[in-house]
This record gives sequence, C-alpha cells and structure tokens, in this order.
Amino acid sequence: MKTTGIHHVTAIASDPQRNLDFYTQVLGLRFVKRTVNFDDPASYHFYFADECGSPGTILTFFPWPGAKRGRQGAGSVTATAFRVPAGSLAAWADRLRHHGVRVLSAPAAGSPAESRFGAPILRFEDHDGMPLELIESPDAANSRAWHGADVPAAIAIRGFHSVTLTVNELAHTADLLTSVLGYRRADSAGARTRFTTDAAAPGVVIDVLEDPAAPESVLGAGVVHHVAIRARDEADQREWLEALRRARFAATDVRDRTYFRSIYFRERGGVLFEIATDNPGFTADEPLDSLGHALKLPPGLERHRAKIEQHLPPITLRSAPAADTAPPSDLAAYTHRFIPASAPGAPRTLVLLHGTGGSEDDLLPLGKRVAPGAALLSPRGDVNENGQLRFFKRLREGVFDQDDLRIRTRALSRWIAAAIDAYRIDPALATMVGFSNGANIAAAMLLAGVAPIGRAILIRAMVPFTPDPLPDLSAVNVLMLSGRDDPIVPSANSERLADLLRRAGATVDHQVLDAAHNLTARDLTLAAQWL
Ligand code: ZN
Repeated sequence: MKTTGIHHVTAIASDPQRNLDFYTQVLGLRFVKRTVNFDDPASYHFYFADECGSPGTILTFFPWPGAKRGRQGAGSVTATAFRVPAGSLAAWADRLRHHGVRVLSAPAAGSPAESRFGAPILRFEDHDGMPLELIESPDAANSRAWHGADVPAAIAIRGFHSVTLTVNELAHTADLLTSVLGYRRADSAGARTRFTTDAAAPGVVIDVLEDPAAPESVLGAGVVHHVAIRARDEADQREWLEALRRARFAATDVRDRTYFRSIYFRERGGVLFEIATDNPGFTADEPLDSLGHALKLPPGLERHRAKIEQHLPPITLRSAPAADTAPPSDLAAYTHRFIPASAPGAPRTLVLLHGTGGSEDDLLPLGKRVAPGAALLSPRGDVNENGQLRFFKRLREGVFDQDDLRIRTRALSRWIAAAIDAYRIDPALATMVGFSNGANIAAAMLLAGVAPIGRAILIRAMVPFTPDPLPDLSAVNVLMLSGRDDPIVPSANSERLADLLRRAGATVDHQVLDAAHNLTARDLTLAAQWL
C-alpha cells in the first residue's frame, strides 16, 4: 500500500483575520472553506488551497484569537513548503518584503542563495512565526494556479512541495514512512533525510530532520497540529487502519470530516498523522464558485448555528471571490484560433478540441468539412507532455490525473463561456467537437455539469471520470463515434461513457465504426449528417 502524498497540513494561528489576509492576499491561496473545528465548534477552521481544494494543496488553520506562540521542536512538522515554478523565487522575495513578511533566506540579486537537494528555496515565516518555504519545482508550472489575488500566474503557488518533520531519532519515523505508508527513502544530506512517494502530484515529499537535542515542540500559534496524507477512498483507508493497528499504532476509528474521512495516529517520533480520503471534497456542501463565502457547519452542529455564529469573531474575505473566479476577461488563457462564420443567416459554431500532440490548427480542416461556413473556435491544450500538447495531465496512457482534470475542465469551460461572450457566439447553435484527448475533456465538461454548450461530437472518447451524483444532462445531445478496433479505448469503456451520459438524461447517438483510434472519412460523414 502506498499513499499519493500529503493531503493537508493543519496548524494553529492566532488572529483569524490576519490569518485569512496573509494566506489569501500575500500567498494568493484560495479560501475554500469557512467552518468550525468539529471537535471545538467555538473556534474557526479555515481551509486554504488551490481553486478546487485539491488534496496536496490544502493548508488549514485553527485560529485561536489571542493564542500564545508555540515552540517549534521535536515531534512536529517544523516547516511547510509550497511548490512554485522555476525562476520565481526572486519575485517572491520582493513580494514578501513588500508585504512586510520576515524573509529568513532570500535569493541574492538574480540567483537564489540557498538550495535543498538542488532546488532553490526561500524560507520565511507568517505573522505567527509559522515556518514556511517556497521551493522551485520543474513540475509546478504544469499545474494551474489560483488567480484570486494579485500574484502573477507565472509565480503562483502550486500546492505543497513537502513538509519537514523534526524528530529526536530518525529510525522509528523512517520505518513508519517506508514500511507502513509506502514512502521511499530518496536522499539525505546532513541531518535531513528525504522520503518520497514518487507520485505525479503535489506534496509527495516528506523530509525528516533528526535532531537528538531538539526540545519537544509546544502547541500554540505558528505550530503545526498534524499532517494528513492521502487515502484514495474509504476502502483504502480501512486497509490503512488495519495495517496501522497491526503495527501497534493507536489509530482512531474513522471520523466523518464532511470533506473527507479521517483516521489519526501519533507516530513514535511524536508527530500526529492523519490519513484522509480524497473525496468527497470541498464541493460537498457548497458550489465551487462560492467556496469559502459562507460559514458551513456539519449537520450535527447546524441546529446550534445561531449560538456558534454569535461566538465566532467576524471576518472579512477581502476580495470578492465572484470577481476572483471570473475568467481573465482577455481570452489569453488559451492560445486559440477563431474563424468567423462565412455562411449567411444564423451562424453555427464548432468548438474544436484537438487530441494529444495536436494544436489549435489541427481540426480546422475537419470543421470546414463537417460544417461548411460555420464559425470555428479552436483552443490549444495547455498541458505540455514531452512536447505534445493536451488538455489535461495523465499519469499514463488512459489513466488521468483526476485533480488536474477537475481544475482544467472548469478552466476550459470558463474560457469557452468567455469566448462565447467575446465572439458573440450563440451557444444554442454551437457544438463541441472533440477528438481523443479533446473528446475526453469535452466529456468531462458534460459529466461535471459545467459545459457551456449542450451539443457535442465525441470522437474516440473514453470515460474521464465517474460523477456521483450524475448531473442533469436532459438538455444535452451527443454523437459518440468509437472505433471497434481502437487499441486505446476499449469498447467496454466507450459503452460505459455512452451509458453514463444517457443515465444523466442526455440524448446519445453512439456509433461504433470499423476503425481504430485515428479519424476516418466515415467519422466526417457521420458528424456532418448528425449536425
Ligand atoms: Zn486534518
């Protein structure tokens, strides 16, 4: 068994408003949940993360007004590191100083002064003295950033890089990480030993600092309370629980945290660990667009809402997330081609979504063939996989990076909606035409219930994810063209996609062609007829 990596990190803060301002306005994270500590409803529980609250990006706080500072020491997480794109630390050092943040190690003019295992690092503290780090990571630029603050996208935080645990003795903690949690010992330098899960996700690294002389940590403002690592689902979590108990850890029973299910245990070095499920996530009790706006309470506390609200200090989320989530009004988020309609009358539009390795020019000839005279809108996939462009990341062929898919599905849907406005496209006369990877993200927009256009031609599509619950697609019309001999999409998979769309209420015409994965003349004929 093997975890993907960090799910979230939870720390103690003092003043709630300062905490909220620092993480949203200075670091540019999204405030994804405003709730209370389920075990102590008199205090807030704040969650900061990426746009969707993806596991691996979530930093949470219990802000206790007037809390005294704790002490960093053995038996706790003594540094929390975020990933940033390569080359961004100098800009971060400027930004942090501009906001009056205490920077402990900063890049000298032009080049970073400090590196860890070869990666440039910037160390600083929040106003409660919580040790934070930014580490340049070549993978970071491939993850989408949250645009809620004025942090330029080119330097914005992309989830966690790692946490550092300080313990008096490495052996027990190393044993837990490698023999129970599935980490691999990757490197060491001095007292620091690096462990990784090798997953393609944020937060795959845990560093352990062995310091025999370190005094025990004292919980208080600026000190991490626990670190949570990821379980895929509840079945996975039950296996962890059994494995932990077999290894004689006093792990708690599963607790329902509304946004995930959790078990907790203290490892022998003293660090409190949690294992949290990836689902159901932060849209469990409010829509993506309004995350963090309202105080959310678990069902058991809802009847005490009036009393709870009376006791919580008032806070203000400085910038309205409604404005935050609005697409950058320029259409620059995706490189694209737009060819206006040349046919008279009410112009039809095709939104063309290319396959892996294609570009915005790829499907233009197809568009001209199947709908002569129609307007053509064709964005370029913004994920670069070894020089091949696609619309979202995959872990390997046919296995998708679900966090990335979720974020990019919404980003593309917002961009299409913005293009509909900017180019005066009539969505009722528009059709998405996706091939392969482009068909998969079109299917993802439909299944996520965020497609700005209700008509789609999906060529060689597969199931991008399985929504639960199903969206209402009763106004949606889909033509699916699959290949009987497609080596990439097994016919059972395309059948399942057609079935999912139908069960969600869509009208689906699913045609299976005598073809493999590539486009054929028959695809064009059927697409033109269906249109
Ligand atoms: Zn937790």
